[in-house]
Amino acid sequence: MKLFNTLSRRKEEFVPLEEGKVRMYVCGPTVYNLIHIGNARPMIVFDTVRRYMEYKGYEVNYVSNFTDVDDKIIKKAIEEGVSAEEISQRYIAECKKDMAGMNVMPATTHPLATQEIDGMIDMIQTLVDKGYAYPVADGTVYFRVKKFKEYGKLSHKNLDDLQSGFRALQVSGEDQKEDPLDFVLWKPKKEGEPAWPSPWCEGRPGWHIECSVMSKKYLGEEIDIHAGGEDLVFPHHENEIAQSECCNGKQFARYWMHNAFLNIDNRKMSKSLGNFRTVREISEQYDLQVLRFFMLNAHYRSPLNFSADLMESSKNALERIVDAASSLKDRKAAAKTESVTETEQTLIKEAAGFVTKFEEAMEDDFNTADALAAIFELVKFANTNVTEESSSIFAGSLLDELVKLCGVLGLIVVKEEENLDKEIEDLIAQRQEARKAKDFARADEIRDQLLEMGIILKDTREGVKWKRA
Ligand code: AMP
Ligand code: ZN
Repeated sequence: MKLFNTLSRRKEEFVPLEEGKVRMYVCGPTVYNLIHIGNARPMIVFDTVRRYMEYKGYEVNYVSNFTDVDDKIIKKAIEEGVSAEEISQRYIAECKKDMAGMNVMPATTHPLATQEIDGMIDMIQTLVDKGYAYPVADGTVYFRVKKFKEYGKLSHKNLDDLQSGFRALQVSGEDQKEDPLDFVLWKPKKEGEPAWPSPWCEGRPGWHIECSVMSKKYLGEEIDIHAGGEDLVFPHHENEIAQSECCNGKQFARYWMHNAFLNIDNRKMSKSLGNFRTVREISEQYDLQVLRFFMLNAHYRSPLNFSADLMESSKNALERIVDAASSLKDRKAAAKTESVTETEQTLIKEAAGFVTKFEEAMEDDFNTADALAAIFELVKFANTNVTEESSSIFAGSLLDELVKLCGVLGLIVVKEEENLDKEIEDLIAQRQEARKAKDFARADEIRDQLLEMGIILKDTREGVKWKRA
């Protein structure tokens, strides 16, 4: 499996630190508003990377944070006259709804910056002790950039160029810094802002330290993949490397993956241009599966333009897959025979070639556009070769292949599971009714029926829970 590493600017063979396991950190959104379709791009792209890794048999520990302390959150809280926590909690809940709509799997852990302050203070203290950071009179703590000789290795910037650029840009009020390149690790509280006690002053962490700390806590000092949008390469990820590597004395992440930006009608998406689109707005018009398809129909490192036309064509394209799946399902159910003919056997072997094509595309730096092309070849193949005369095994095997490949991309093309879940929940409700009515024979009968369906029931304090055997 090859992936493009921003660090080396080359496609590299993926070799995990620990065989069979992947430790992956993806910078999550700042939660002060509904997420926009730009934020959705890294979510969908890296969820797909995770799904493919899992498909290949890796156990993926996937960590993605919510930045829940930030100027924008505080500003919104002041505007609404509520606490910053209320704002962040509200938008975390909304973000999770959007993620579910886009079929983005919940992370193994979704840490919150505000819950990790102790770890941040510890890391800053280590950096101060090692001479990589220093507090100034007002209690701000800065990272001493020039002391880290490798600074700039991710963004491929050279310290001298950075320095001349920064001198011109020096922000007023930062004159206590030793060097214009130094960045904030801890900052003093301003009136009305959330703050925590620290050895330097009551205050709050800088943004970069949050990710270094959360990554270390949940994944360890060395990780396989660190990812995010390309705007994060500099300074965010560069600063994360500086903090983590100076603190831990080890290479932080082996592979750095960055998605390109999503533009809208060929312009940058921004509030001032008024062309901002939230995922929620899209969901009012389309199933979010369409948005997912749209994102994956481009390579993640290519800039992507969002337009109404492209969404329409994504909708139609996705429908072609869904229709093919549904017709395979019908053909399978209505098949007159189970026995596979020799011709069908040959065709089944031929169809395995689409899986190979799909995998080759994914192994080549997650070329999801080519992977989708392989899926469309399979769709065409199925539409051409499966007829009323086909055996149920033949139709079923193409259906399974289609569902499997789409599933790796997080595209749901058969909603079978959902119907089944509803059926199970209904049966459980009926069993509860029977028990209430002391009709234990009926209750046991339903339990057995569920067992036959491969469903195991467990009575807990929160009610009846079920799982598939
Ligand atoms: P933010 O909430 O701005 O910290 O962004 C959360 C994630 O969304 C980061 O990985 C950003 O790089 C990414 N992101 C923000 N805007 C866009 C965009 N227009 N296109 C692609 N990714 C974006
Ligand atoms: Zn981050």
